[in-house]
Amino acid sequence: MTFATLGLIEPLTRALDTLGYQTPTPVQAQAIPAVLAGRDLMAAAQTGTGKTAGFALPLLQLLAMEGPKVTANSARALILVPTRELAEQVHESVRQYAEHLPLSTYAVYGGVSINPQMMKLRKGVDLLVATPGRLLDLFRQNALKFNQLQTLVLDEADRMLDLGFQEELGNIYKALPKKRQTLLFSATFSDAIRLLAGQMLNDPLSIEVSPRNVAANTVKQWLVTVDKKRKPELFVHLMRKQHWKQVLVFAKTRNGVDQLVEKLQGLGINADGIHGDKPQATRQRALDRFKASEIQILVATDVAARGLDIEDLPLVVNFDLPIVAEDYIHRIGRTGRAGATGEAISLVCADEVNLLSAIETLTRQPLKRQDEAGFEPDHRVPDTDASGNVVKKPKKPKKPKASGGGKRNLGKWVDSGEKPEDVAPSVKPVRKVPVFNTGPRKRKP
Ligand code: AMP
Repeated sequence: MTFATLGLIEPLTRALDTLGYQTPTPVQAQAIPAVLAGRDLMAAAQTGTGKTAGFALPLLQLLAMEGPKVTANSARALILVPTRELAEQVHESVRQYAEHLPLSTYAVYGGVSINPQMMKLRKGVDLLVATPGRLLDLFRQNALKFNQLQTLVLDEADRMLDLGFQEELGNIYKALPKKRQTLLFSATFSDAIRLLAGQMLNDPLSIEVSPRNVAANTVKQWLVTVDKKRKPELFVHLMRKQHWKQVLVFAKTRNGVDQLVEKLQGLGINADGIHGDKPQATRQRALDRFKASEIQILVATDVAARGLDIEDLPLVVNFDLPIVAEDYIHRIGRTGRAGATGEAISLVCADEVNLLSAIETLTRQPLKRQDEAGFEPDHRVPDTDASGNVVKKPKKPKKPKASGGGKRNLGKWVDSGEKPEDVAPSVKPVRKVPVFNTGPRKRKP
């Protein structure tokens, strides 16, 4: 099977030749003909399986072949993504695919000045990539109208809900023309997403390329148990012992990122960090330098690292386990992309056993434990069974209470005095189900 046999036109296949894409990936093989035929789509695909091209290629073709010329302050297609970095990345892919087509494309996101974006939108753009908050700002300031909108893509839709964008999505939804094509892409599919799909999609074709919630099998995964305090020391030890080259490291909090980067830099290790508190330009620079292999260790929170595509990244380290189990799949999906093999190592302390159990339940595979000599934890990480449940030990008889003794904070996220980035501090996060008010819009006072 080739891209041409899927129905793509020559200017697109020529761009793909230049990029070295020879054969469509499974998600592309299913999505491209369906989108070209005008279907709504609800697609679940593993990370790194080529879903961006799966929606962008047919979308660009439809824009080039059909519909009127774009007018001032309008967009004909909109791709919504959860983070600024992903907006840049998706736009870069779109730009490459559209190289030989007479289409204008652009990306808008927060954290940078809105004025140049307003100027750029004056002429209108065929395809706009946007984060929800900035898109609404532009809409409210009349810099953008949706009357010409033909297609809406929700990329990483589950993450948009996790990041609390449900209200923005609801407001955008109300402003869009009812007649349009909608494509919903997500690496993982929760019930909340299925509900969102039910509200936004019209008779969608469901594509599920890989089993639900299963991590890419090209990634070798294992964990080392360790006491929380000794994690930085273990990290440096493993790095030296195993001669790690390029590593993307995930930490839970902004503070955690800064502390680890400081420690590594103090040891003369070439490390940098990205998180939501850093200005956009600094984050982008760190990322670009990491991609160019000028930085060896990049430490990030989930929000900063979502969806990043780093070529040939051999290793992901979970310095802290993610608070939302599905993020584990996204994190380790940064390695082993496009058929390459990768490795994902998690440093797990006793406090994190509930998170570990949630991950193992979700991925339906227990993570292999490997002890590191000299780092065996004093606080043992309880065992989990094959289904990911924590194996409870029989209770010891209660000791009489000593005065002044506080409760231990097992499993709670208050130790660093900081909330995990963009995630509510709860051991078992509850996803809010979006409810869209489809009634008449209220006028502003
Ligand atoms: P994605 O899942 O969209 O983030 O894509 C993951 C990586 O696979 C990106 O580096 C793409 O450029 C690459 N890719 C996507 N489709 C193909 C293809 N058909 N052949 C080769 N590489 C691809």
